[in-house]
Amino acid sequence: MKRPSLPHWFSWAQDHALVTKFPLLYSQRHRLETSLRYGFQVQPGWYDLVLRTSEAIDRIIAEMPVSEQPHFFATQVRTKYTSLLIEMSETTPMMERIIAHAAEVSTRLCESCGAHVPPQASPNALYPPGLVYPPHGNDREWRTRVCTDHFNLYSRGY
Ligand SMILES: [Zn+2]
Repeated sequence: MKRPSLPHWFSWAQDHALVTKFPLLYSQRHRLETSLRYGFQVQPGWYDLVLRTSEAIDRIIAEMPVSEQPHFFATQVRTKYTSLLIEMSETTPMMERIIAHAAEVSTRLCESCGAHVPPQASPNALYPPGLVYPPHGNDREWRTRVCTDHFNLYSRGY
């Protein structure tokens, strides 16, 4: 079975929009010490989810005393076992709830197009239930949550 070529992450325009709209959350987007310097390592199907989640977290930071705000920033936005992972320098319990909710929502959305994914059995205990491509890959390899259409497209080598 042919694998999709390298995953394509958020476009430059999407990346720029997030950093511009949420300057507190993404204040360290280009800092060399953070993994976020590589960009948002998420495919465009989850853009709206990342946008909504970023908006909620950025609003919490904006409501903090100005002296506190610089301590709270995203260090990484990527997938972990095909769920959305947002890592922060520091979090509040409310931020943790928002991030956990976004991870849960991401398990039901195709990472390529944002379509709802039909519920399916998990390929193994590490993954939440759903359709994952490649279906029998090594857990250390890149894998992505897909809708049926994208599963079929990738399986044909697109
Ligand atoms: Zn899809």
